Amino acid sequence: MSKLTYFALYALQHRGQESAGIAVSDGSRIVVYKDMGLVAQVFDESVLNTLRGHIAVGHCRYSTTGSPTWENAQPTFRSTDAGGLALTHNGNLINTPELAARLDASVLTATTDTEVLTALLAEHGDPLAAAREILPATRGAYSLVFMDENVLYAARDPEGIRPLVLGSLEDHRGWVVASETAALDIVGARFVREVEPGELLAIDGDGVRSERFAEARPKGCLFEYVYLARPDTTIAGRSVQATRVEVGRRLAREHPVEADMVIPTPESGTPAAIGYAEASGIPYGQGLVKNTYVGRTFIQPSQTIRQRGIRLKLNPLREAIEGKRLVVVDDSIVRGNTQRAIVQMLRDAGAAEVHVRISSPPVAWPCFYGIDFATRAELIAGHLSVEEIRDSIGADSLGYISLDELISASHIAKDKLCRACFDGVYPIEVDEAARGKHLLEVTPT
Ligand code: SF4
Repeated sequence: MSKLTYFALYALQHRGQESAGIAVSDGSRIVVYKDMGLVAQVFDESVLNTLRGHIAVGHCRYSTTGSPTWENAQPTFRSTDAGGLALTHNGNLINTPELAARLDASVLTATTDTEVLTALLAEHGDPLAAAREILPATRGAYSLVFMDENVLYAARDPEGIRPLVLGSLEDHRGWVVASETAALDIVGARFVREVEPGELLAIDGDGVRSERFAEARPKGCLFEYVYLARPDTTIAGRSVQATRVEVGRRLAREHPVEADMVIPTPESGTPAAIGYAEASGIPYGQGLVKNTYVGRTFIQPSQTIRQRGIRLKLNPLREAIEGKRLVVVDDSIVRGNTQRAIVQMLRDAGAAEVHVRISSPPVAWPCFYGIDFATRAELIAGHLSVEEIRDSIGADSLGYISLDELISASHIAKDKLCRACFDGVYPIEVDEAARGKHLLEVTPT
């Protein structure tokens, strides 16, 4: 079971690169192994061989509440009156201080929203009874998979902000719950259905039992389509790749330009660049080579690492781009550092013109539901107009897809989507006091 979990985590590495961990139960005890680093750095054959059991949960972390430290890595684990509880969480809670106030602070050994939730759930001996009581009071984004020694549980917040899917192995002899369908494919599981917003599952040898802890109020994250999810994942029955190509076509119609070649910022700009080329009739080509072994740049925590990361990650193909008028398609502009470096790299390599096209609207508002977009001041579109951003990144022209076109390409109704980072309309209100990545971390005075 730990190897299956390892490969599922490997498939989901793009969702978090700071730490990784697996908890496994053999029916009598839970063993947790976690460490800082990528999945392949944390686990090797000998470690996996020691993690024996028939139930497992795994996690690769990207920090949104609490620093990227070993203590904050997941799965979290707590002893309960009945045994143990191990939990993994995709998302970010927005009432962490309120939940933490229910606990004696001395019981917390980490500084994450996930630690608070685990401690609350572990106060009961029975995780199901605890989940029925605690989840209705838990606000924000949470796709959870947790377990005691004998049962695997899964739950998704009533808004269903982050994805969570159920799959079956060997004709229902085994079950898998994962953030994306791509993870099911890789472990040979068949997609059964999405875990519903507000749904709680309990899975054991008798199969899957489902109940509701809240009414569904779907507000799926629109940014999953733009950047977060793998292109080979499907959301609401539609492939993310198909959506991204369609966004590219619409982008070409909204922001046409005369040019010689369309190139993507690899890999996340690739599907939209294909769509842009298709709709515009401008040839598609490769102009930038990506070192795929370097992590995604905005996901890494410090500004210094990010700036260095851009140079490590991309290199221009001089022969392909020299003298050409280029359309460079990227998925989003967050702080603007990546695009500024890319435009400069392409000009240095001889590009005649660089026109930047973005397959999302300007990211102008922070996300409190599981993406570390930080503060408005750090978002370039939070304080600059499109023309000012164009000037800042040094492009000849800049065009973003409109929000309406992006929503239309997702095939999901606007009122069923969270798009707060684009329009500032937050589906779950966030108190000022509950904001901030380090709210459970006391700074010594
Ligand atoms: S604010 Fe943006 S990134 Fe965050 S959940 Fe909403 S759409 Fe997704």
